[in-house]
Amino acid sequence: MFELFGIQVTWRVLLDIGLVAFIYYNLIVLVRGTRAAAVLYGLVVVLVVYYISDLFNLYTLNALLGEFLTSLFLVVVILFRADIRTALSRVGTKRFWSKSKFRDDTLDQLTLAVMNMSSSSTGAIIVIEKNVPLGDIIERGIELDAKVNKELIETIFVTETLLHDGAIIIRRDRIVAAACILPLSSKLRGQPMYGTRHRAALGISEGSDSITVVVSEERGEVSVAMNGRLTTSLDEIRLRRVLKNALGR
Ligand code: ATP
Ligand code: MG
Repeated sequence: MFELFGIQVTWRVLLDIGLVAFIYYNLIVLVRGTRAAAVLYGLVVVLVVYYISDLFNLYTLNALLGEFLTSLFLVVVILFRADIRTALSRVGTKRFWSKSKFRDDTLDQLTLAVMNMSSSSTGAIIVIEKNVPLGDIIERGIELDAKVNKELIETIFVTETLLHDGAIIIRRDRIVAAACILPLSSKLRGQPMYGTRHRAALGISEGSDSITVVVSEERGEVSVAMNGRLTTSLDEIRLRRVLKNALGR
């Protein structure tokens, strides 16, 4: 086709570069602001030290880091095994390729369940997963695979059930886990009105792009946590609006 810096640029080269750019872009979007980002940052530091040690002929340090970097692939796979499994299983499904993520019907059922639990002051915490996979949290809870419907959500959070303690996680139109323990945020410490349930909702929103709905057992108050912020005292109309905007519907 044409030449650039002495390299023959063909459609094959362009396709190759395009695909690599696409993969890197999606990887960066995926890990931004997550645990994976911190790990990647650590790896970059190790790489830099490795090259510096090579430059200054620090043989022992260089050999040590070299050994570590050889087993890097294994380290990454072990650290992120749950997330990798989720990601690979998604590529294989039809849903991965279609745009529609969150159905109107799912949103309706979720909103109705939340408002019912609010009137009966039933404590609840519901995480909706978006692009950042929550595989490791799901794996440590009780895994389910059930279509979202209001009766099921309300039943799970009845305090006599074995599943009520902890969060449920929704992926697209399915409840994929219950009794999940989320990381606690260090915010809200000075506010006794908001205890561990609300701090857990904030915590997961600080480490991922998920959206979490909380119903307070003490006040029946409905709140939503996303991007490290808690919006409190939502009524049905506002809850619906917040969820619609956040889920891009
Ligand atoms: P509420 O207004 O409903 O009382 P709160 O913010 O005051 O909520 P707590 O009273 O401490 O919080 O709520 C305790 C409940 O929150 C637990 O029974 C549990 O179901 C849930 N919870 C506590 N910690 C976590 C966590 N790390 N991840 C998920 N759920 C949690
Ligand atoms: Mg409380």
